[in-house]
Amino acid sequence: MQQVKQLINGEFIDSTTQEWIDLTDPATQEVIAKVPQTTDDEINQAVAAAKEAFKTWRKTPITTRARIFLRYQALIRDNMDELAELLTSEQGKTIADARGDVFRGLEVVEHAAGIANLQMGDFVENVATNVDTYSIWQPLGVCAGITPFNFPAMIPLWMFPMAIATGNTFVLKPSEQDPMVPMRLVELALEAGVPPGVLNVVHGGKATVDAICDHPDIKAVSFVGSTKVGQHVYDRAGKAGKRVQCMIGAKNHAIIMPDANKEQTLNQLAGATFGAAGQRCMALAVVVLVGKAGEWVDEIKAKAETLVVSAGKNDKDLGPLITPQAKARVEHLIQTGVDEGANLILDGRGIVVEGFEQGNFVGPTIFDNVTTDMQIYTQEIFGPVMLIMRADSLADAIELVNANPNGNGTAIFTQSGAAAHKFQQDIDVGQIGINLPIPVPLPMFSFSGSRGSKLGDLGPYGKQAVQFYTQTKTVTARWFDDDASKGKVNTTISM
Ligand code: NAD
Repeated sequence: MQQVKQLINGEFIDSTTQEWIDLTDPATQEVIAKVPQTTDDEINQAVAAAKEAFKTWRKTPITTRARIFLRYQALIRDNMDELAELLTSEQGKTIADARGDVFRGLEVVEHAAGIANLQMGDFVENVATNVDTYSIWQPLGVCAGITPFNFPAMIPLWMFPMAIATGNTFVLKPSEQDPMVPMRLVELALEAGVPPGVLNVVHGGKATVDAICDHPDIKAVSFVGSTKVGQHVYDRAGKAGKRVQCMIGAKNHAIIMPDANKEQTLNQLAGATFGAAGQRCMALAVVVLVGKAGEWVDEIKAKAETLVVSAGKNDKDLGPLITPQAKARVEHLIQTGVDEGANLILDGRGIVVEGFEQGNFVGPTIFDNVTTDMQIYTQEIFGPVMLIMRADSLADAIELVNANPNGNGTAIFTQSGAAAHKFQQDIDVGQIGINLPIPVPLPMFSFSGSRGSKLGDLGPYGKQAVQFYTQTKTVTARWFDDDASKGKVNTTISM
């Protein structure tokens, strides 16, 4: 049985742990590898290697760092097919979607290759006579990343390329549910020229996460995952004096105006709700039909019924959920919806996929007449479940979205510029789409979820990541001419 290795100081090594976690194919339950619960000693070795490597890496020319990411992006492209296949085998999503997962991470790598344009400080000449002030954006030291199962390529790539490009060293803790793609990605990073100790990987669950939060030599932690764990990481790592950012849970709404382009809208809603079996932090969970759009329910259902559920490697529309526990949780939540009085118009429970009878499959599921007090509304389902609600007006729909505590993403579908503009102005959500259901910004911007979907101020990639992974040092300098007057003692604070 394959054992997932750790990366410490440039070496891929087996753990000495006695505690191993089964890594299973979500379409079959076949155990495909064993993941170690990295020991405390191994975590300390990884952090020590990163701390030592920082001494030289922080002084490595920024152009040298940038060129590594130029090579890295080429290597990821060359290995795209293999990466996508590996991702599907351990995570379950379709091959096409797995390629998207790698590609959205690749875009961050491309951005990291331009680091010399991004990590530029400021300079003001003559802040006082012959006095200049400039600021330098210096790396923090050892940084760490903790990632979720749902984007095992993209989210690690949100983190370590920007952290390393800015001159930090890094310890990654990928999800224990699908760490093989992250391991292949770090292998390629080493091949691209990332030196030993600059990038390290440890594995495991809560014990590893807590050790990262507590370790005195780690200066910053980037976390992506569920709200409950994110809150824990934010509190624990914050208490230990670290800079922390946490991108957490969501409940994303789309508002459908009656003037929207119907066919386009129906296609987008189905793709964004049911794609990746709903296991996206930007998945559409709630569809708010405004006015006469309330008559579109049958067509929404008909569109969902066209989707084919199968093992990811068969590359149909939706793959399985990550684990039998995730499936049981989603099915339980569907039952609470029925019990609490929502109208279940499409039930994806009990679906059997020929040849993959043991897979964690749930088919597209739709509830109508959902109210805000139901558990299906108050909890993030993280499965292929659409909740339909109605509003009399755009203003009512906006009020509904703004009353939800989450702020990851939202969208409006309309042909009216005035409606879109009102939505853009009044909606209190950090990432919004206009006729686009999953508005995840490209890395020239930053991921900007808000309110209950984020802890900390700065996003995980783009310009905000440059700020997250650096600290500003300002230098105020005066150079005297040899023949300058000697002046006299100045006991004030003016220069
Ligand atoms: P999770 O919170 O269970 O796991 C995330 C990480 O935390 C993993 O590395 C895991 O090993 C670790 N972990 C799990 N339980 C822990 C505990 N009790 N103590 C300490 N660490 C623990 O999340 P998940 O199920 O892997 O991912 C799905 C969640 O992530 C969803 O809520 C989704 O919305 C969220 N997510 C958010 C974003 C975003 O950008 N806002 C992006 C992707 C996923």
